[in-house]
Parts: sequence; C-alpha cells; structure tokens
Amino acid sequence: MKNEKAVVVFSGGQDSTTCLFWAIKNFKEVVAVTFDYNQRHITEIECAQKITEELGIKHHILDMSLLNQLAPNALTRDDIAVEDGKEGELPSTFVPGRNLLFMSFAGVLASQIQAKHIVTGVCETDFSGYPDCRDIFVKSLNVTLNLSMDNQFVIHTPLMWLNKEETWGLADELGAFDFVREKTLTCYNGIVADGCGECPACKLRKKGLNDYLAVRKGL
Ligand SMILES: [Zn+2]
Repeated sequence: MKNEKAVVVFSGGQDSTTCLFWAIKNFKEVVAVTFDYNQRHITEIECAQKITEELGIKHHILDMSLLNQLAPNALTRDDIAVEDGKEGELPSTFVPGRNLLFMSFAGVLASQIQAKHIVTGVCETDFSGYPDCRDIFVKSLNVTLNLSMDNQFVIHTPLMWLNKEETWGLADELGAFDFVREKTLTCYNGIVADGCGECPACKLRKKGLNDYLAVRKGL
C-alpha cells in the first residue's frame, strides 16, 4: 500500500487522529477530509485544521450543514442534552445516516483525487449504539461505493476491533501517544486534550487512557 493514496475521514478526535497517523505510516500520500455539520463547537473544525497543518497533510473541509437541517440532535443543537441511550434505545448523539453520508462523500472525494483507499476510525468494540459503526455496515458500503462509481476502493478501519485502551496502544506504537493525548478533541463540551472530564466522551476516553497507562507501566 506504500505507493498508494488514502483519504482519511478526520474529525480531530482521538480515534481519527490515530487513524491519520496509521495512514501516514501505510500510504505514500494522505489527504484528510472533515465534515462541517454545525457541530456543537466550532473548536472541532479548528482542532482538525491545526492537526493537519502541523502534520503537513492536505485537508478538505466539506460543508454538511444539511445534516443538521434533517436531523437535529445533541451534537448539533445546544438545547438537546448529550445522554447515553437507555437500554434498547439509540443515544441522543446519534445522527441517522451520518456515516453513510460521510463515507459516501469521502468516496466521491477519493474518486476525484484518484485515491484508492479510504480510512475511517469507526469501531465496533466499544459499541456506542451507532449502527453505522458496525463492520458489516462498512463492508456493505464498500461494495456499494465500488458499484456506484465503478471503482475498487478499499475502506480501512484500523480501530474496528480495538477497545479504547488498545487504541491508545496503537497511537503509542505509531509514535503518536503524546500528540494524540495533547492535541485531539473528544469532549462534547469542546475542550481539547483531557476535556471537561464529565461528559460521556471524556469518561470513555479517560477510562481507556488510564487502562492503557496501567498496561504501559507494566511493560
Ligand atoms: Zn467532556
């Protein structure tokens, strides 16, 4: 894959930044794409911009504000609280069709810039309740994209079977542990690095980090 080009679906968060480092290691040329859908905090876009600038990666920001028009939810509206889903319900952060749309647009971009590979940080292990993070969805979409554009894309999901602790481990393996820890944004309240510490995203990130630090100590 070393001689080929990849598009990374990039949000500036822990997972997609780890994927960006993974792609830089595995491909000759890497391009990042961020979707702007009026996220709660514009910091997410700024954070993504900063990271790609620092790494010298070409960065496309695509306007996807129509998503907010279609599906108001906790990530885009301040008046809807961020909550974990109750048993059998989807969490309030779920945006129906989000990954379907994002991955499809990433495919259009990949086709335009002649990139064969698409990389996304979705993962099934810490299953968030998002149906469009499942492996079967990604595989199905890969087939659909190839059929729709008569192309041979390969969608990569380096985090698909990793838990949060193992994702920190991968960042470490890629020499990006400190970078990911200090420069990425996971927090629903828009605070970079360790975040607010209170929202579900911060709690999940912190747990994974602590678990990994404990493992790392023992190495
Ligand atoms: Zn937070």
